[in-house]
Amino acid sequence: MQYQQTEAMKQPLRFGEGKLYWINTFGCQMNEHDSEVMAALIENLGYRPASSLEEADLVIINTCAVRKKPEDKVASMLGKLYALKEKNNDLIIAVGGCMTQQEELAGYIKNRFRQVDLVFGTHALPRLPDLLDQARREKATILDIEEDYAERGGLPARRAAAFHAWLPVIYGCNNFCAYCIVPYVRGRERSRKLEDVVAEASSLADEGYREITLLGQNVNSYGHDLPDKPTFAALLAELNRIDGLSRIRFMTSHPKDLSPALIDTVASGEKICEHFHLPLQSGSNRILEKMNRRYTREQYLDLVREIKKAIPGVSITSDIIVGFPGETGEDFADTLDLLEQVRFDSAFAFIYSPRRGTKAEKLADQTTYEEKENRLQELNKIQQQISLEENERLVGSSLEVLVEGPSKGNPELQTGRTRTNKLVHFPGPAEMTGKMIMVRVTEARTWNLFAETEGELY
Ligand code: SAM
Ligand code: SF4
Repeated sequence: MQYQQTEAMKQPLRFGEGKLYWINTFGCQMNEHDSEVMAALIENLGYRPASSLEEADLVIINTCAVRKKPEDKVASMLGKLYALKEKNNDLIIAVGGCMTQQEELAGYIKNRFRQVDLVFGTHALPRLPDLLDQARREKATILDIEEDYAERGGLPARRAAAFHAWLPVIYGCNNFCAYCIVPYVRGRERSRKLEDVVAEASSLADEGYREITLLGQNVNSYGHDLPDKPTFAALLAELNRIDGLSRIRFMTSHPKDLSPALIDTVASGEKICEHFHLPLQSGSNRILEKMNRRYTREQYLDLVREIKKAIPGVSITSDIIVGFPGETGEDFADTLDLLEQVRFDSAFAFIYSPRRGTKAEKLADQTTYEEKENRLQELNKIQQQISLEENERLVGSSLEVLVEGPSKGNPELQTGRTRTNKLVHFPGPAEMTGKMIMVRVTEARTWNLFAETEGELY
């Protein structure tokens, strides 16, 4: 089903004419893309981007609920916005995203932060123009956290980069990992039709985008809910045929659903980048079971072996949770052992953060926070050494890089990414942005590589 046009879309409203907006995004790539959709929707109302929060007439906060830290940041930001609203009563403040999809939190924000004009959940995104229209007319805070499973594919997006685009292929999640809030705030899995994804990727290629990243909480389960059940491997193979696209990335892969066909497709598709983000979460079978991850450490290791055998030079990155309820020193040692065996190119590690309404919230937890912090530090130290050693293996090699623009730390250098998603810095003019070049790696660090240019490709 295609998303129904709202009133605001049928008779375009232009109440944003001459006004400026600012969007603050917390969380993952899916949230970043949702903010791109919000930007396009409000630009259709006449709003233009502000160059600072202070000058905006409309502020949207796109929240994240995966851990407590981003939630705390939202509360502190709302506190600061209070002063801005005092100065400018016409300022519209809207709070959306994963935090506000939860009834309790949406109610809390509405009642605690009276300066907020609109509270909307992840499902309300297509209704944003109408909700803003309502918010500017009415004095009371508008709340929309209705669940709505209509196809979101027809919505526009104002993409942040001119050469790289996020492209969602499946929304929601059915996995219910015991620690995770995502299935509660993003709903059940809904795959976009294969032909719609291919059509959007083709038009992105026509507009000059070089690289797309396919997004889903678990891209590997793509298609199971569609009538003809296309697999994710089949979708990738179709996208690989699009002229004009140079690179196709995807994330995230749940290890339990990563098929041999997908490995073969990545190995053979010349545009499909050799990188898997394959969250491990824990190296202990006991904890994996409590987490409801539905694979064992042995299965995970077998999978990594298959991937490395089929795709030489592949990079594998991961997410790990430290201090899940009941994690003993022995369980943690199993995670460290797996880190050494797999040798991830990089891994994001997080201290377990209890989430309202999840299964793990109720589990007894004997480990102190201090002990969890110690474990996190120990794990990061080991992983950083591994990341450095993996990067050092690349010194002297020639790699293809898509240039993203001047380096943040040193504007005389350009920054780009290899096919394996490694960040590389090298000398070159700003005009290189969006181009594909060859570089030779001269120095390796933990988080990035330094290189000299060898020649422009196209
Ligand atoms: N769907 C992806 C997957 O299955 O790996 C990732 C979803 S989540 C946005 C990204 C990462 O956040 C997870 O891989 C996990 O490591 C971490 N995470 C999720 N819930 C968490 C929690 N309650 N506490 C700490 N980390 C959490
Ligand atoms: Fe959360 Fe697990 Fe779904 Fe990832 S697969 S979004 S960790 S429930």
